[in-house]
Amino acid sequence: MSELLNQTAAQQAERIRAGEVSGEEVFGFWRGRAQGDELGAYLWVAEDGNGGGGELPPVAVKDLFCVEGVPSSAGSRILEGYLPVYTATSVRNLQAAGANVLGKTNQDEFAMGSSNENSGFGPVRNPWDRERVPGGSSGGSAAAVAAGTAPWAIGTDTGGSIRQPASLCGIVGLKPTYGAVSRYGMIAFASSLDQCGPLTRDVTDAALMLRALEGHDPCDSTSIGLPDEVELPSAERLDGLRFGSWGLEEEGLDSGVAEVCRRTLDRIEELGGTVTEIDLPSARHGISAYYVIAPAEASANLSRYDGVRYGHRTEDFDDLLSMYERTRDEGFGAEVKRRIMIGTYALSSGYYEAYYGKAQQVRTRIVEDFRAAYEQVDFVVTPTSPTVAFKLDERTADPLAMYLSDYFTVPMSLAGTPAVSIPCGLFDGLPVGFQIAGPAFSESRILDAAHALEKAIGFEGVPVKA
Ligand code: GLN
Repeated sequence: MSELLNQTAAQQAERIRAGEVSGEEVFGFWRGRAQGDELGAYLWVAEDGNGGGGELPPVAVKDLFCVEGVPSSAGSRILEGYLPVYTATSVRNLQAAGANVLGKTNQDEFAMGSSNENSGFGPVRNPWDRERVPGGSSGGSAAAVAAGTAPWAIGTDTGGSIRQPASLCGIVGLKPTYGAVSRYGMIAFASSLDQCGPLTRDVTDAALMLRALEGHDPCDSTSIGLPDEVELPSAERLDGLRFGSWGLEEEGLDSGVAEVCRRTLDRIEELGGTVTEIDLPSARHGISAYYVIAPAEASANLSRYDGVRYGHRTEDFDDLLSMYERTRDEGFGAEVKRRIMIGTYALSSGYYEAYYGKAQQVRTRIVEDFRAAYEQVDFVVTPTSPTVAFKLDERTADPLAMYLSDYFTVPMSLAGTPAVSIPCGLFDGLPVGFQIAGPAFSESRILDAAHALEKAIGFEGVPVKA
């Protein structure tokens, strides 16, 4: 059974289909792997495959997806013990396609973070170097796939939380177009930005999973699905495709990361693509706009945790108001409190136009930057993260340094457009991620280009122990 460890989810599905191995056996194998997790990647592992294994290998699910009867806390102590009465549409779509839930993965509390150190349930370690972070906020999902304790996983990306941990762990992470995948049953962070997407070993698995995930959902009025069925990628060349490179001269980009990304641009040209430098003049204000908009939306979304409706309630209170206050003080971690305060301030009367209104104008400018870029090129390519995986505790004392981890991923989130991160090489023995972005609904084209590049790069994953 140990050969499953080195097979992609698509290869495992093929073997299940051919009758070489049963869905139950595949599920049992991965459950054993998940139970052996040593990285803090899992918060809960399934006992059985809900009535047997399916036609696809099982999937590890970020904690913030509601799964009926299964602890779903979004990495927060305030939701400890919460058992949802329904299952998120994205998870149901995967189940319907034959992928059962393998476990719930650790994450930054309410998806706020870039290192997984903001989890209420402890950090996750990077399988490439256990003294380093896996990235965040979908750090548990990324670490599990990279370490071979899950065949594939889902996460969410609000400003980079799929792509950045995928980059730091040396796997593939895709943020779909805003609205491509239903968010019903996803515990909300910032509703104009949150998207669900795959974290996988390779680009083909990302396409296979996206095919199951996407679609309009009557329970989510912001969902629209993708116009066509997702094709499995097959391209081996990039002839005639135009790539616009952005960000390689930005301050704060690690020179080693820049070097590996430059080599990737050379490969694009070897495969027949053209590379030109482009400017996205407003994108460099993306982080500033994001850290007004996302906290503003979060402060509204998190007002529902009042000690009455879900999870934790303080034991120590005199009246209703002190019950609210102490529950929230005990239940939320420091980063979540910081965001609630920033968001509430930015939305308060007298400041609303100066902060929130301004940030929305910047957002519109970024949308226009991309629109202009896609008149000249087919894809925008950037490093995914300015650095490789950093040490645990290295950035916890400096939230602004942490926020810059998403410098290259936030612009696409604000524009609502899709982007994938693929591993493109190593620097200092740690994986470097390369981001390929395209216009709204261009997922199949992005994945096809990523596939050609992936084949040419031939990246080997972390050497996992059988
Ligand atoms: N790191 C960013 C933040 O802390 C993005 C998080 C995300 O995409 N969920 O908000």
